[in-house]
Amino acid sequence: MQIDTDQGLTGFGESCPLGPFYLPAYAAGVRAGLGELGPHLIGKDPTQIGPLARFMDAALKGHPYVKSPIDIACWDILGQSCGRPVCDLLGGRFGDDVLLYRAISQQSPEEMADKVAGYRAEGYTRFQLKVGGEADVDVRRIRAVAAKLKDGDRLVADANTGWLMHDAVRVVRGVADVDVYIEQPCATYEECLSVRRMTNHPFVLDEVIDGVDSLLRAAADRAMDVVNIKISKFGGLTKARLARDLCASLGVAMTIEDTWGGDITTAAIAHLAHSTPTPLLFTTTDFNSYVTVSTADGAPQRRNGRMAASSAPGLGIRPRREVLGKPVLDIH
Ligand code: MG
Repeated sequence: MQIDTDQGLTGFGESCPLGPFYLPAYAAGVRAGLGELGPHLIGKDPTQIGPLARFMDAALKGHPYVKSPIDIACWDILGQSCGRPVCDLLGGRFGDDVLLYRAISQQSPEEMADKVAGYRAEGYTRFQLKVGGEADVDVRRIRAVAAKLKDGDRLVADANTGWLMHDAVRVVRGVADVDVYIEQPCATYEECLSVRRMTNHPFVLDEVIDGVDSLLRAAADRAMDVVNIKISKFGGLTKARLARDLCASLGVAMTIEDTWGGDITTAAIAHLAHSTPTPLLFTTTDFNSYVTVSTADGAPQRRNGRMAASSAPGLGIRPRREVLGKPVLDIH
C-alpha cells in the first residue's frame, strides 16, 4: 500500500497473510479493512506514529494485519522526513547484518534432508523444518535433517500448531537426544504449555503470541525460550517494536519476521531485526528470496545467509510500479 502526503513524501507498506487458514487474517480482509479505516486517516500527520496507532485502534477494533501496512508506510515517511533509515529510528543498528533462517517445506524425511546442503551453499546455517504431520514421520524428518547438520548450525522443528498434545509429546521424546528447538507444537497456548513442561528442548512460541498480553503471560509462565514476532500479527512496526523491546528486557530471544511478503515486507523486517540487540535476535527471514517476482528495488538482498537493513532514508525501497500495476483502491 502507498500513503501520499501533502509534503510530497510517499510511504509504502505491505501486508501478506499466509492464506486465510493460518492466522485470523486474509488478503481480501486487508483490502476491506483499508477501505474501512482509510477515510478516517485522511488529513492525519503520518509522522505522529504513536497518536496514529492509538487512533487506528479506536477507529477499528482488532484487525492488526490491516493496520500493519499503514503503520509501516508511516515509518517509511517518518524516516524520509528526517533523512534517517527506519532502523535508526527503531533503536539503532546492531552490527553489520543479521542472520537468516531457511524454511524447509514438509516432504519426506529424505527429501528434506537433501535440501540442507543446497541451502547451506546459499549461506544459511539456521534451518526451520516444517513438521506438524504424522508424529512418527516427523521424528524421522527431524533425525534425517539433524544428521546433515554441521557445527554451529541450528535446527528448529516448527509444527505450526499441527500436533495434538499426545503426538507432540511422542515427538519430543522421540528426538530427546537431538539438538533441536521445538516451535508451536499445538493450536492453543495451554496445549503448548503442557508440551513445554514435558520437554527440555529449547521452546519457541509463534502463532499464539500476538500482543503484549499473550507475551507477558508466556514470559510469566516460562512458556518459551524464543518467540516469533511477525510484524503484521502485532499490527505494524510500532507494536512489534514494543514486543521486541519487552522481549529484549526479559531475555527472550526472537525470530523477527512476518507471515509472508515480498520486497517491502523484507525491508520492514530488516529494519526491525537490525535494530534488535544481536544476542537477542535468534534469526530473521528474507522473504524476498522465497518469491519469484521482485516488487521493489532497494530491498535487502541475502548475502552469505545474512542481510542488512538499507542505510537510505525510510525503508529504502522504490516499488516497481510496472510489476504492481494500478491501485485496486484509491482513498483521498
Ligand atoms: Mg513459526
